[in-house]
Amino acid sequence: MSERAATTRSAELFERANELMPGGVSSPVRAFRRVGGEPFFATHGAGVWLHDADGNRYIDYVMSWGALMLGHAHPAIVGALHDTVARGTSFGTPSEGEVVLAELVREMMPAVEMVRFVNSGTEATMSALRLARAVTGRDLVLKFSGCYHGHGDAFLVQAGSGVATLGLPDSPGVPAALAALTITAPYNDLDAVRAHFERDGERIACIIVEPVCGNAGYIPPQPGFLQGLREITQAHDALLVFDEVMTGFRVAAGGAQSYFRVTPDLTTLGKVIGGGLPVGAYGGRRDLMERIAPSGPVYQAGTLSGNPLAMAAGIAQLTQLRDADPYDALHARTTRLVDGFRSIGAEQGIDVHGGALGAMGGWFFHDRPVHRFEDARASDTERFARFFRAALTRGVFLPPSPFEALFLCTAHTEDVIDDTLDRLRDALRETTS
Ligand code: PMP
Repeated sequence: MSERAATTRSAELFERANELMPGGVSSPVRAFRRVGGEPFFATHGAGVWLHDADGNRYIDYVMSWGALMLGHAHPAIVGALHDTVARGTSFGTPSEGEVVLAELVREMMPAVEMVRFVNSGTEATMSALRLARAVTGRDLVLKFSGCYHGHGDAFLVQAGSGVATLGLPDSPGVPAALAALTITAPYNDLDAVRAHFERDGERIACIIVEPVCGNAGYIPPQPGFLQGLREITQAHDALLVFDEVMTGFRVAAGGAQSYFRVTPDLTTLGKVIGGGLPVGAYGGRRDLMERIAPSGPVYQAGTLSGNPLAMAAGIAQLTQLRDADPYDALHARTTRLVDGFRSIGAEQGIDVHGGALGAMGGWFFHDRPVHRFEDARASDTERFARFFRAALTRGVFLPPSPFEALFLCTAHTEDVIDDTLDRLRDALRETTS
């Protein structure tokens, strides 16, 4: 188990980056602020391995924040991109890839009867909210504390992910008048949702929810929670939006909605459907999606939307996933990792609680199971920071925040998991010594 070499080159790049980019990064959690130390600069990846500018390599459990289901540089995706790029990078007219990817998405996730491709998950959720407001004629949106739906104004209220990681209150720059249109409830708390609807039911356009929360750490829905949201929204003529940017095609072939058998009105997607290229999408009931321009009056557009390279990578990845159906195997391996780590915690007298679904999971240093963001915040985040650094030194790249889930890909074999657990055993020991 090799200790990593010096990180001189990464340090030098980070110093230059800090002069040029806020915090030296293009997205906040990458800066390692919550866990200490400095980020490494990646040069290339292959399968589960991510390589840095100083020649170190890491078993990767970030997987481009969930986008990569087949590992780094999978031949099917690289090949599809090679074929596509030689014909041009963007056309500004429709191209066949959009139709093929839309068909694949609908085949695997039938509630997405129609889809609009965009360039990020943020765009997808912002656009879905606009549509929900337009069709209901209502302004309020209900979200859950600790859930992250991108950086749109409406969603930066008690948000998870980087906002939670940096311990920020709601972001400056979001007008109070806009923030007032977002109401929040604790995750897994149907009573709180009911109370909101009793008070404001006629003003709530939609509930948006991560059907498995991954942005406050990994928090699964309690039995009946998602069904309850479906019933409440139906009773009040509000829409139910599942934000499956993270869970879509990751927790199950048809996303969380197929696994939990709850059909939302609208779904937002990203990450996996782009195979590692910038992409997002929103879709759902035909009668709703037909309200989007140019079919209907709800305006939303994008210069690079449906980009042929993103479509090609997405088609390659989704086709592999549909044909190989690796989800049971992935679930078994994610469970092996999480359960294995809980046992290591028990051996060392450290409380660990966690869970897994498909290729997504996580754990907290906490003495009780975590059901909501408030519980996650009460976990031992200082130990997490020490543990993250010790794991990195041993060649395991975990998400650099206690408020993020970890992600597997099809290249994480049982042997890789067992190798990881050996490294994590040592890393955890170091957090107490
Ligand atoms: N929704 C969820 C559930 C997410 O996890 C994320 C990103 N982690 C987003 C939306 C935003 O996606 P993007 O970063 O592509 O804008």
